[in-house]
Amino acid sequence: MAQLIDGKATSQAIKDELKAKVAGMIADGKHAPCLAVVLVGEDPASKVYVKNKKNACAYIGIESRSIELPAETTEETLLGIIDELNADPSVNGILVQLPLPLQIDEDRVIERISTEKDVDGFNPLNAGRLFTGRPGFVSCTPAGIVELLKRHNIEIAGKNCVVVGRSNIVGKPMALLMLRENATVTVCHSRTKDLKEITKQADILICAIGKPKFFTADYVKEGAVVVDVGIHRMEDGKLCGDVKFDEVEPLCSAITPVPGGVGPMTIAMLMYNCVKAVGE
Ligand code: NDP
Repeated sequence: MAQLIDGKATSQAIKDELKAKVAGMIADGKHAPCLAVVLVGEDPASKVYVKNKKNACAYIGIESRSIELPAETTEETLLGIIDELNADPSVNGILVQLPLPLQIDEDRVIERISTEKDVDGFNPLNAGRLFTGRPGFVSCTPAGIVELLKRHNIEIAGKNCVVVGRSNIVGKPMALLMLRENATVTVCHSRTKDLKEITKQADILICAIGKPKFFTADYVKEGAVVVDVGIHRMEDGKLCGDVKFDEVEPLCSAITPVPGGVGPMTIAMLMYNCVKAVGE
């Protein structure tokens, strides 16, 4: 049976470490970190994500400031709000919940967030820092996956790692992080030929394509470590990932479940970035 990589317990451990760190900051007379969360519109999934992030802040002792704007908000108004938050010294981190309504250019908004407050790590300058191996904020989902593997004593250096998916927020930073950890990295995408032949070479297979139960047993080498980034709600209300868990789990040495794998780590790493944003 595969080792279950427990994202829920690991995320809880990280949140407890951060809670102690914030308590220490306050005991030293410093202010609690403050995260400004900007939500535009009424998207129900976004509202749930924002609520979860605010709950995590409350648990750790991070102040969260909510800016809720109507769906018809213009790009100019949103950029103006970001400018104010950038200039506000009491705000350490800024998070703009995506997706944004169509009239707003997401790239322009992400680029406007100060690189020092970009706790999502989506700003091109932070992406460039990751690319060049310099310190900066790293996208929370891939950063959480590396943390999850390390805390489960899964060796990365020298391993063949195949990342399937090349988005700016998951696949690409994931590949760069695994490279930084000295894995030999292959990135696959929708135009990859003979995907199965490549994924079957993976010691560590990271599945991030957004297709429910796509990765069946014949994509996985025996003994591989499988990380399932996908998250989908099925018609019966249950959650599943990009991996067909029941088929793949008996084959591999370790696997992240959905739910309770990668998902909770994303929030934990966001909280980590908020505390880091305060600086030493
Ligand atoms: P995107 O849709 O932005 O990217 C999907 C990637 O998968 C693209 O690079 C695409 O290739 C590739 N792809 C799609 N179909 C195939 C295929 N059949 N074979 C090979 N590659 C394919 O998604 P995200 O990266 O944002 O997210 C991926 C998944 O992770 C989603 O299910 C999302 O919900 C989940 N997610 C989970 C998070 C968590 O906290 N657990 C956080 C973020 C995302 P191409 O570039 O060629 O189009």
